[in-house]
Amino acid sequence: MASKVPTDDINAFSNVLTGLSGLAAALSLRRVGHNVTVLERDVEILKGGPGGGCRLTPNMTKVLMHWGLKPELQARGVRKRSVVFNKTDEDGALGKHTYHDEVLLESGGGEWFFISHTELRGLLYTAATNAGANVRPNCTVTAVDAVARQVTLASGEVVTGDVIIGADGPKGICRETVVGAPTTGTPTGTTLYNATMSAEDVAKVSEMMGGPEESEVAVYVWYGDGWCLYSYQMNPQGDHALHLYGPDDGQDGTWSDEPSVSLPKLLENLEPKLAKFVENASLAVRVRMMDYGMAEDWVHETSDRLLIIGEAAHPFPPGALQTAAMSMEDAAVLGKLFSHLKSEDQIGNMVCGFQDIREERCKMALEREVYRAQVFTLKKGPEQEARDKTLRLLNKDKGFDLGLYSLEEPRVLFAYDCEDQGEEWWQSWGLLRERAHNRRGNPLKVTMHVEVQAGSTSV
Ligand SMILES: Cc1cc2nc3c(=O)[nH]c(=O)nc-3n(C[C@H](O)[C@H](O)[C@H](O)COP(=O)(O)OP(=O)(O)OC[C@H]3O[C@@H](n4cnc5c(N)ncnc54)[C@H](O)[C@@H]3O)c2cc1C
Repeated sequence: MASKVPTDDINAFSNVLTGLSGLAAALSLRRVGHNVTVLERDVEILKGGPGGGCRLTPNMTKVLMHWGLKPELQARGVRKRSVVFNKTDEDGALGKHTYHDEVLLESGGGEWFFISHTELRGLLYTAATNAGANVRPNCTVTAVDAVARQVTLASGEVVTGDVIIGADGPKGICRETVVGAPTTGTPTGTTLYNATMSAEDVAKVSEMMGGPEESEVAVYVWYGDGWCLYSYQMNPQGDHALHLYGPDDGQDGTWSDEPSVSLPKLLENLEPKLAKFVENASLAVRVRMMDYGMAEDWVHETSDRLLIIGEAAHPFPPGALQTAAMSMEDAAVLGKLFSHLKSEDQIGNMVCGFQDIREERCKMALEREVYRAQVFTLKKGPEQEARDKTLRLLNKDKGFDLGLYSLEEPRVLFAYDCEDQGEEWWQSWGLLRERAHNRRGNPLKVTMHVEVQAGSTSV
């Protein structure tokens, strides 16, 4: 049985496989007038419970604010801006770093926000659907045909679009189709354990979180021998997120697993205060830190109608600061490029431009994240001593060059304006390529139709 849904006066139609990247891309494309269908295998997009925590960097919140989502961020997350570094075997903090207002303003006005993954997904889902995206849960994609621009669902239904945007993560079918092989990662030697602590339980260990004078402090970091525990408030109710970066125990695990790991069992022989702290944590989800490598090509070799974005294109280590930020930047750049779409045959130029714009930026952010994960998990020795010595200087000299936490981070990472970069690319390279195709000044309004077919077989 096949049904045809005619649509008039649309510029393009995209299928987006979802996650944070997919929902953000759907929102960004809807904002510039494109019809978007989002296909998600989860039965429910908005899962119950707080989920794990996400740290939203200023370059990311800048994008969300530009989309008008600041009130939502304020309602669902918390805005704070200091990090306190501790050692598990020392009293008193090693150092404290604050991102001052003037620094944040100079780097484009973004802010640090902390939020649960569930709330972030919910925020993007609501914004995307309010903007008119058609988000379809319980749709597992089992096959992708880049040339026919079709995806087949587990139900047998075939969905056709002008562009397929694969935002289905590092092990997704879209990445596999673009790369031409299934993704196999290499263990990095580190595993992330992702837990939460209810506001009620946080109250029992409040001495670990400083007093009211520490209300600006977002993140508490405890460095152990080869591991590091991170904790931060992730909603106005006061629930906390916990990330433990520890040695790989050889067991697999992904974000979608049920929480199963006891942090107190993992961290034996802790000093009493920290032991009491982790006893109050929920069971953790184990996410093994694999190196999946950045995809060499983000656009399918024989059809420029399949593009991968987000973790599918540039996987980051789990628990990295810039992962979600790169997803939002991807989405914003996609929206900027597709805002110029006037005819169907411009699509190839735009999806290739997308990789041109995003690849170097993501590589640079990824290098820093890999380094950060190494710094978190240093074992006792000269490198660990050098790290701690540097952090001690934080209290003494605000201008001291701290590498990751220095002024360079705001300048390089936060100040970047992804939409400006997208527009600049379009004005310099995109239009040049258009001219080469003798297309400038000849905009076409296209009318396309979308086919949604219910297949006869289930896969
Ligand atoms: C369940 C889950 C929970 C997470 N929790 C946290 C957290 O607490 N903190 C944190 O920092 N990061 C978390 N992450 C990771 C975070 O979302 C990503 O690192 C990143 O921010 C966004 O990546 P992405 O959207 O590109 O890919 P992903 O987050 O990997 O999303 C991919 C999406 O594609 C869907 N999908 C995959 N294959 C198919 C298919 N064949 N058909 C249809 N749909 C498909 C998946 O269900 C998923 O929703 C989580 C990811 C997942 C999937």
